[in-house]
Amino acid sequence: MHVVMIGGSDAGISAALRARELDPRADVTVVLADAYPNFSICGIPYYVSGEVTHWRNLAHRTIADLEAAGMRLRPDTIARRIDVPGRKLLVTTAEGGEEVLGYDKLVIGTGAVPVRPPIAGLSGPDVLGPADGVHLLHSMGDTFAVMRTLEQAAPASAVIVGAGYIGLEMADALTVRGLHVTQMEQFPEVLPTVDPQLGALVHAELAGHGVEVLAGTTVQAISTAPPGGSGRLQVQATAADGTAVTRQADMVLVVVGVRPDTSLAVDAGATLGSKGAIAVDPMMRTGLPEIFAAGDCVITRHRLLGQTYLPLGTTAHKQGRVAGENALGGNRQFAGSLGTQVVKIFDQAAARTGLRDHEATAAGFDPVTTETAADDHKAYYPGSHRITIRVTADRATGRLLGMQLFGHKNAEVAKRLDIAATAIYHGMTVDAVSDLDLSYTPPLGSPWDAVQMAAQAWVRETRPR
Ligand SMILES: Cc1cc2nc3c(=O)[nH]c(=O)nc-3n(C[C@H](O)[C@H](O)[C@H](O)COP(=O)(O)OP(=O)(O)OC[C@H]3O[C@@H](n4cnc5c(N)ncnc54)[C@H](O)[C@@H]3O)c2cc1C
Repeated sequence: MHVVMIGGSDAGISAALRARELDPRADVTVVLADAYPNFSICGIPYYVSGEVTHWRNLAHRTIADLEAAGMRLRPDTIARRIDVPGRKLLVTTAEGGEEVLGYDKLVIGTGAVPVRPPIAGLSGPDVLGPADGVHLLHSMGDTFAVMRTLEQAAPASAVIVGAGYIGLEMADALTVRGLHVTQMEQFPEVLPTVDPQLGALVHAELAGHGVEVLAGTTVQAISTAPPGGSGRLQVQATAADGTAVTRQADMVLVVVGVRPDTSLAVDAGATLGSKGAIAVDPMMRTGLPEIFAAGDCVITRHRLLGQTYLPLGTTAHKQGRVAGENALGGNRQFAGSLGTQVVKIFDQAAARTGLRDHEATAAGFDPVTTETAADDHKAYYPGSHRITIRVTADRATGRLLGMQLFGHKNAEVAKRLDIAATAIYHGMTVDAVSDLDLSYTPPLGSPWDAVQMAAQAWVRETRPR
């Protein structure tokens, strides 16, 4: 049995590891376009900031670890075409030649590519790129280009276009490196994936660390700045009230999301679903014979919303594992996502799982969202922090649908969110969350955990007696 994975990141490597785990005799080949198998691209901002001191440290596993697990790695090898009836994969090898790899099962894990928004200067004859200090960011190659700009051009300032989680992490990273950062976001508030009430807290944290935050600001053009300005690049934008906004900076980073990389699968005849991602069933089958797909290139089954597209590393790992198991004849299903995610912004963290109010309404629920604040541990013990918690639950049934948290990075925001994610996964009510037997000691918690106090507040406000 020869199983071939296309893609050497979270999905492809997870599939390969699972296949080898299940059958140490399985012949597993991983074809990847670059030379960085199993690198944690989630860690890129911390390498850029200098907190991770060498790019090699971003490897989840070394090449030697992966080879010891029994997989054959084919770095710098680009998959060009899938011959579905012949079960063959045409690749361009590292040396530039063509080669045909036969397979019994194929797992497509080609991931995503960064969106290049329709901003003048990002395409067309006057396109600016890394050599000019204009960057997109997704791969290790993109990271090396950013580092070249930082080390060779020694920029004093940067404009970041986009204030999603990667934009925020990069604002943090570049500020830590000593750059003055301006962050532009077209939505009215930063981190538009959480409610604006929490976005405003993130905004304040950015501003408190010297980041100039321009929310409600749509970028139109990036160009070379006229001589004598305060930076080599110029960014022109429009504020929500129509006012023109211009900033000059030495570096521009455009991080406005990703789109699934599906061309190989489309050419092979795969069907597409949400946001143009490859349609797969819960077993990660594409519908093409013997071909599975996983990760950022495929649709995501959301446990409350059904089919959606939610590209996240956590999901890519799980889907890859399912694909690897089923490629060996298994019967595993991807259990679905809740869009659980967390981001650190300087000293704070913002996190969400499940649905926000408007998403729950669109999904047919009758949601109520309440906000409360609670201490992460007993306030009399030094170092306690308030956590702001927003709870979304169904009015009639009390079923927990979503939770959002904002609090200090040491306040266990992520693990508290995970209590909510676990509760939503199992269809629990807010009352039942309050009943959970959670741990307590004054330096680390309270008899009622912050999440339970938020659940109780929801019940109090929704069902007054
Ligand atoms: C800066 C940053 C921070 C992030 N932080 C987080 C986080 O904190 N938490 C989280 O959950 N997620 C995070 N993510 C998202 C997460 O990294 C992705 O969801 C995850 O890496 C997707 O894995 P993947 O294997 O599906 O695809 P990708 O990581 O996109 O990898 C695709 C692979 O396919 C290869 N490939 C593509 N086309 C071909 C071809 N034709 N032939 C051969 N190989 C090919 C590529 O070389 C690569 O190896 C972050 C992403 C970035 C960029």
